Amino acid sequence: MSNIVTKRVLLTFSASISGKPIVSELVRKFDLDINIYRASITPNEEGHMAIDVTGDEQKVAEGLAYVESFDVNVSRTMNSLMWNEDRCVSCGNCLSHCPTAALHIESPAVRQVKFNGEKCIACMSCVRNCPFGACSSLF
Ligand code: SF4
Ligand code: SF4
Repeated sequence: MSNIVTKRVLLTFSASISGKPIVSELVRKFDLDINIYRASITPNEEGHMAIDVTGDEQKVAEGLAYVESFDVNVSRTMNSLMWNEDRCVSCGNCLSHCPTAALHIESPAVRQVKFNGEKCIACMSCVRNCPFGACSSLF
């Protein structure tokens, strides 16, 4: 029986492959569902794409390895939202703007704001609502 999983990854690729249909090949060759939730190409044509990849666990692993074979950096841990803990003063302003509670208070006694990258959907609402510049977008 297949084990269906969803992996969130951040792809970073160079100008030389920015025109290649890598994502559509993931769908076609590996039978995966792809949800692109952020993508951009910088003026020097370096590309960033934040995607959710859903499918059979083995196929997801094979598909991501296939992508990596094209000189694409596949980060399984990094999100396109960067949270700078040193800048965060735990003012709490972002909490009501974060739809997934990725930014949250771990312990009510301490009231220190923490970030859980696995819950972040990179909506960038916190970037607009952090007065201290603790949240920024990688691209
Ligand atoms: S980008 Fe959106 S989901 Fe992620 S921490 Fe900021 S507000 Fe929350
Ligand atoms: S708004 Fe900024 S400084 Fe305030 S708790 Fe959120 S991330 Fe930290």
